[in-house]
Amino acid sequence: MDVKLKCIECDKSFDGGAINRCVCGGLLDAVPDLESLRGVVSKELFDKRIGSREFPYTSGVWRFRELVNPIVLDKDIVSKSEGNTFLYSHQRVREYTGISNIVLKHEGENPTGSFKDRGMTSGISEAKRLGMNAVACASTGNTSASMAAYASLAGLRSIVFIPEGMIAFGKLSQALAYGAKVLQVNGNFDDAMSLVQESAEELGMYLLNSINPWRIEGQKTIIFELVQQFKWEPPDWIIVPAGNLGNTAAFGKAFYELVELELIDSIPRIASIQASGANPFYGLWKNNLKELEAVENPETIATAIKIGNPVSWKKALRAIKLTCGVVEQVTDQEIMDAKAIVDASGIGCEPASAASVAGAKKLMEAGVIDPKERVACVITGNILKDPDATINYHLSRLDGIFSRFANKPTVIKPTLEAVKREVG
Ligand SMILES: *Cc1c(COP(=O)(O)O)cnc(C)c1O
Ligand SMILES: [Zn+2]
Repeated sequence: MDVKLKCIECDKSFDGGAINRCVCGGLLDAVPDLESLRGVVSKELFDKRIGSREFPYTSGVWRFRELVNPIVLDKDIVSKSEGNTFLYSHQRVREYTGISNIVLKHEGENPTGSFKDRGMTSGISEAKRLGMNAVACASTGNTSASMAAYASLAGLRSIVFIPEGMIAFGKLSQALAYGAKVLQVNGNFDDAMSLVQESAEELGMYLLNSINPWRIEGQKTIIFELVQQFKWEPPDWIIVPAGNLGNTAAFGKAFYELVELELIDSIPRIASIQASGANPFYGLWKNNLKELEAVENPETIATAIKIGNPVSWKKALRAIKLTCGVVEQVTDQEIMDAKAIVDASGIGCEPASAASVAGAKKLMEAGVIDPKERVACVITGNILKDPDATINYHLSRLDGIFSRFANKPTVIKPTLEAVKREVG
């Protein structure tokens, strides 16, 4: 079994190691040897492992280990039994989006509350395999929460770079509590991202942002697991919130490999959804630009996708092209309304996650998605990540946002009369 790191720009290939970029500056892909995997992996093999009690197959990432990291040994695998997330179908979501066959895959059900755990179990395990001592990332929040947990579990030092004052409290509290060294950078995410790349190189820290090819390999399992849940007959559309574009990139790569290995016959279309205040990928796609034009001061309530200069845009564009996909943008109003619907359905999510549902509704109304098509939205993060956004919405305290579905608490006198009046 073999795996190479290959540059997406110049095709140069490397035998692995702690590198994230080619000598030409291009991003790297982990390229599994699909020839040698043919016949080794099968639907039956992956189905047989569901419900296994044997390490590491309890994990919805390592169930697909041959397609994630075929060379890592059990002793180096750092897992919190991630994945195995549920598919939800709810009347309210169907009515809101106008799509009769829509399901939500809830990646907020991962151990630290976001899909980042899938990439992190893969990235940290590779760090152990390589014998690294310290790991680093820049983060809008969830990457740092996840990295801090997995690094501490593995006994590695972790250093996180976060934009000061711009991350949700649930996420910051996790990074601190799990024991990361937290550097609050005076600047936005994009500033933190450039600084961490420079520092990691200089100080020999293993960089675990989604430019790390192993992060992408782990995140492919969102698609592997989803397709498996669909009994290997993928839906027509996969809709995903898009910030730094690691997920969009991973989804394209996952579908490419599934088709090459003949585990599926057809590829769904990917719809990447950006916040309209942080929409450089939308601008690139809509205007057919050759190069991404960064958004200088990204603005959105969905802090997880508040990114103006996404690193993985070339890989993501490749994914959109491969799948005949689309890129859409949604406003903060649309995001918070969709979130209120997802929340009130008993599913629940953080603001960025609701961009997928808001995007589904918009694409249906625009006639891009047919109301009869089968649609899967990825819910990226847990409802507890950003309680401020949720409470302020329900108390109608968000600037510039009308709380259409507010559910205000009522103050009452401590009498049965008062209860009857309210509940009646
Ligand atoms: C990281 C994150 C995103 C953005 O994903 P990308 O891969 O960077 O595009 C969206 N939602 C949540 C909750 C996240 O944590
Ligand atoms: Zn190169």
